[in-house]
Amino acid sequence: MDFSVGEETRVVLELMERFVRDEIVPLETAFLTKPFREIEPEVERLRAKVRQMGLWAPAQPAELGGMGLPLTDFALVSEVLGQSPLGHYVFGCHAPDAGNIEILHEHGTPEQRRRWLEPLARGEIRSCFSMTEVELPGSNPTMMDTTAVLDGDSWVINGQKWYTTAADGAAFAIVMAVTDPEAPPHERASMIIVPTDTPGFDLVRNIAVMGHAGDGWFSHAEILYHSCRVPRENLLGPRGAGFRIAQERLGPGRIHHTMRWLGVCRRALDLMCKRAVTRPIAPGQVLADREIVQAWIAESAAEIEAARALTLQTAWRIEHEGWRAVRQEISMIKFVVANVMQRVVDRALQLFGGLGMTDDTILAFFHRHERAARIYDGADEVHKLSLARRILKPYRAVAEELKEGNRVFR
Ligand SMILES: Cc1cc2nc3c(=O)[nH]c(=O)nc-3n(C[C@H](O)[C@H](O)[C@H](O)COP(=O)(O)OP(=O)(O)OC[C@H]3O[C@@H](n4cnc5c(N)ncnc54)[C@H](O)[C@@H]3O)c2cc1C
Repeated sequence: MDFSVGEETRVVLELMERFVRDEIVPLETAFLTKPFREIEPEVERLRAKVRQMGLWAPAQPAELGGMGLPLTDFALVSEVLGQSPLGHYVFGCHAPDAGNIEILHEHGTPEQRRRWLEPLARGEIRSCFSMTEVELPGSNPTMMDTTAVLDGDSWVINGQKWYTTAADGAAFAIVMAVTDPEAPPHERASMIIVPTDTPGFDLVRNIAVMGHAGDGWFSHAEILYHSCRVPRENLLGPRGAGFRIAQERLGPGRIHHTMRWLGVCRRALDLMCKRAVTRPIAPGQVLADREIVQAWIAESAAEIEAARALTLQTAWRIEHEGWRAVRQEISMIKFVVANVMQRVVDRALQLFGGLGMTDDTILAFFHRHERAARIYDGADEVHKLSLARRILKPYRAVAEELKEGNRVFR
């Protein structure tokens, strides 16, 4: 396995690192204290600059106006951009649009591509992905109540969703709905494109998450679909293929998320070190002189490196062997990296003391908003169960032999 990047990508990473530090981080105070809509003009100015620099949409294929970086290279990009909550958005590779672009690129009809994919890829419109329901477990989405019924030439959608990230101001939603209730559980749902100005698409509220409802791209909405009627040709991909398509996105999508989280880790560790060497704790002594602080820093650095190596190895294998070959690792990195991030951010908060609790640094934001990493993209427990199932499978197959053996486990 070779994780070294070519000269071109190395230059790109350096440019991005500098852009994040010099242009994006200075915008964070406004991001933390003002509605997203208020800072949007400034964010758009930065996006225009990124386009001019030829750094727009690093993960997107060149035919869509992106840089077309291979997955392992994009993983490194995602880490750099993840150091700021605005990094991915400014560079046009943010959730949920990045995933929706992949789906539309892979499965959209020519008309769907023209109408939705092209402006989305250029960053002219936004989108959202509407699957999780209020009343049923997102961890088992085959239990889904939202239905889409064909009526003449239209799909009529009814259901209640929530946590539809970035629905506020989005041009369309990709909605997961049951179209074939009699089919086997994993073939019941389909993806349907729903323009958000369709009558019956009701954005009930932006949900307050950890005390903050947010707005625009930075929000999570509850949405009621009631008799929401869209043309038949808004079906995205084959009928009944909703879960299969969602699964295809999992591998690359997971790398994007986990490397972004590692960017959060890097930032938190960097802040920790800066604070440790400057904060006096006794005459002539700073926090960094205390062994317990040194241990926090050493543990954080080691955990980050281990998580990073596992993630990059997984990215490399997805790229070279396909995601099916690394299903176990795709599950592992989800909960390993989410938990490393939580521990590192928590240590940083502790080290910063009262200052850590304020919004004068980015740490409290990370603490509030990145806690969700253990819940979305599959709750940690779901990934642990599926990983354990796969590990145990060959053992279960020989369980009878083990029982019949001499009961000595060697
Ligand atoms: C910030 C954020 C953004 C999101 N964005 C989107 C989005 O854009 N679109 C969208 O459709 N959804 C989105 N979601 C929803 C997310 O996908 C779900 O929250 C997630 O799938 C978990 O579903 P749930 O909340 O219904 O929890 P449940 O399924 O009710 O699970 C609750 C808890 O039970 C435990 N658990 C679950 N299953 C098992 C099991 N088999 N065995 C043991 N324990 C188990 C886990 O600890 C889990 O956290 C987002 C969520 C968050 C927090």
